Amino acid sequence: MAKCVVCGKPGVYTDRLTGRVLCKKHFLEHFDRKVRRTIRRYEMLGRREHIVVATSGGKDSLSLLHYLYGLSKNVPGWRISALLIDEGIKGYREYTVKDMLRVVEDLGIPYRIVSFKEYFGLTLDEIVETGKKRGLPYLPCSYCGVFRRYLLNRIAREMGATVLATAHNLDDTIQTFLLNVLRNSWERVVRQGPVTGIIDHPKFVRRIKPFVEVTEKETATYALLQGLVMPEFYECPYVHYNVRVSIRRFINELEERHPGIKYSMLRSMLTVIDLLTKNHSLKGEISECRICGEPSSHEICRACFYRYKLGIMESREMVVAEEVFKHKKP
Ligand SMILES: [Zn+2]
Ligand SMILES: [Zn+2]
Repeated sequence: MAKCVVCGKPGVYTDRLTGRVLCKKHFLEHFDRKVRRTIRRYEMLGRREHIVVATSGGKDSLSLLHYLYGLSKNVPGWRISALLIDEGIKGYREYTVKDMLRVVEDLGIPYRIVSFKEYFGLTLDEIVETGKKRGLPYLPCSYCGVFRRYLLNRIAREMGATVLATAHNLDDTIQTFLLNVLRNSWERVVRQGPVTGIIDHPKFVRRIKPFVEVTEKETATYALLQGLVMPEFYECPYVHYNVRVSIRRFINELEERHPGIKYSMLRSMLTVIDLLTKNHSLKGEISECRICGEPSSHEICRACFYRYKLGIMESREMVVAEEVFKHKKP
């Protein structure tokens, strides 16, 4: 690779947009500047915070954990913990859990691991099987996403988090944006900004995305340079059923032909969120789920709705669900 434009040492990273080559030291400086600017720009963190980092054990979330831990050393009022949700995906999650444990033990970061099995009685693999048997549409990523977000909020709150940090990067964020636009899900667009501010409920933990302006390639480079992930790459076996794969390919092709389009999409998303937030009808009422008591925009939250559909609910909960769903089509 060519030499670093700053110091002339061997380069480790090339910025596709500007063509600038950077060495390890200058890449890490560039990365740090970028993330600090994001945190400032969106007012993500205050002086006193207990930051719980949602950690999957993949390169993005380990990078976020490692980065925020480094940053917290200079801020006396900050505490960092890690939270991993084990969905129960055989041949995948057990490996990333190992990577996560290596990093948290290395840095001495307190952590919690909770599983779908202990909270819902089934692993994701078993949920997918149950759905099949009951003739429900094949939606592994929907079950996974709903149950994971549910546990992240609930457990982060139990851990005393003032803020929940997730590792969504620029690529993830604009993929989700486009996905929601294609599905006409504008209430979701509003909730997927760099800071989730619209949900105003005491049981809802504020969510931030400090990596929202860094690309997938930048977080991968950071993880590699800091030795956070093993060279083997593990892929979720359900990934191919997710429409996100096509959207990712589409956006990457666009970026290839029109460099800079990813940032432009992020700016579009921010404008749209701003406009929609002013439109109060989209805010909706946030109350508490009649079954589990977690914050929800419906009488019964999405997680309890899926538990009902899957038949993994206690009979007294079932009574409430039947009563609600009898009257309306969910
Ligand atoms: Zn350099
Ligand atoms: Zn619920």
